[in-house]
Amino acid sequence: MNNNPIEHLIKRLAKLPGMGSRSARRVALHLLSDKDMNMDPLQSALQSARDKVEKCSTCHCLDVVNPCSICTHPEKDTTKICLLQSVGDVWAMERTGFYKGHYHVLGGVLSALDGVTPDKLSIGTLLSRLDGVDEIIMALGATVDGQATAYYVAEQIRKTHGDITISRLAYGVPIGGEVEYLDDSTLATAMKSRGAF
Ligand SMILES: [Zn+2]
Repeated sequence: MNNNPIEHLIKRLAKLPGMGSRSARRVALHLLSDKDMNMDPLQSALQSARDKVEKCSTCHCLDVVNPCSICTHPEKDTTKICLLQSVGDVWAMERTGFYKGHYHVLGGVLSALDGVTPDKLSIGTLLSRLDGVDEIIMALGATVDGQATAYYVAEQIRKTHGDITISRLAYGVPIGGEVEYLDDSTLATAMKSRGAF
């Protein structure tokens, strides 16, 4: 067991997404180079996010209020729900400013390989909020698992709400492309020219 705080910090940082051990070393060095300037604000930002941010129990987005500010927004179209894999996807969609409906964050996609079964995703809460909804827009990414998940969820929706239109983003999107990483105009176009699922 290595108790060296520098090594420990680097190991922790290296676990963050997009961060290799080389970047982790650079960040650790930067933080330690001026603890007051660099570490204290980060520490309080982490603490404040830890204390205040929670998951919306309706759509599973992150916000400081529950239900979240998107779910309670007076100008959002309550008849449309866009189904997305992650909160990052919602942020990307909101950035485009094009879509005016509601969201539902699934929390992943079904995957036999990774042991992701339907009960591990927020499918139940989606099915419980379908009354008054006209359209579900599938935006789960063009991966094999993403599409298989979309088919599964569509099947569940049709069991109880056969009148809901199910559409999906038009994919001018690279195969395997994840929604979060699309540039804003591609995403906006994909939403505008969505087709029947
Ligand atoms: Zn919400």
